[in-house]
Amino acid sequence: MRDRFDLVVIGTGSGNTFIDSRFADLRVAIVERDTFGGTCLNRGCIPSKMLVYPAKVIREATAAGRLGVDLRLGSRSVGPRSAIASSTG
Ligand SMILES: Cc1cc2nc3c(=O)[nH]c(=O)nc-3n(C[C@H](O)[C@H](O)[C@H](O)COP(=O)(O)OP(=O)(O)OC[C@H]3O[C@@H](n4cnc5c(N)ncnc54)[C@H](O)[C@@H]3O)c2cc1C
Repeated sequence: MRDRFDLVVIGTGSGNTFIDSRFADLRVAIVERDTFGGTCLNRGCIPSKMLVYPAKVIREATAAGRLGVDLRLGSRSVGPRSAIASSTG
């Protein structure tokens, strides 16, 4: 026997985050052909901010001397490559 649904939502991007208690009485199917969460969660907003924030921290660290802050980072190198490595685990 085939499954039957009252509502089928195609895609799990942020544009489709409207399924809530209003739909509790319905049989709802969510169909996703790629990674759950869509562009914002997997490739857009969140990943890009994971690069933007470390870049901001690096810029502030390199400008610390102008504010009278004596900042030593030890042997660990600070730069875009290490920021990307630490933000992606
Ligand atoms: C680099 C970057 C940074 C961004 N930063 C921001 C930000 O800071 N703030 C902001 O508000 N927006 C940002 N955006 C925009 C944001 O990502 C999009 O506006 C949002 O993802 C759109 O959501 P959506 O659900 O319409 O599409 P998507 O997120 O693209 O989701 C569509 C989903 O549907 C699936 N799908 C498509 N067709 C089918 C099918 N036939 N069958 C099954 N599944 C299907 C896809 O696989 C995908 O998972 C950014 C985008 C990018 C690229």
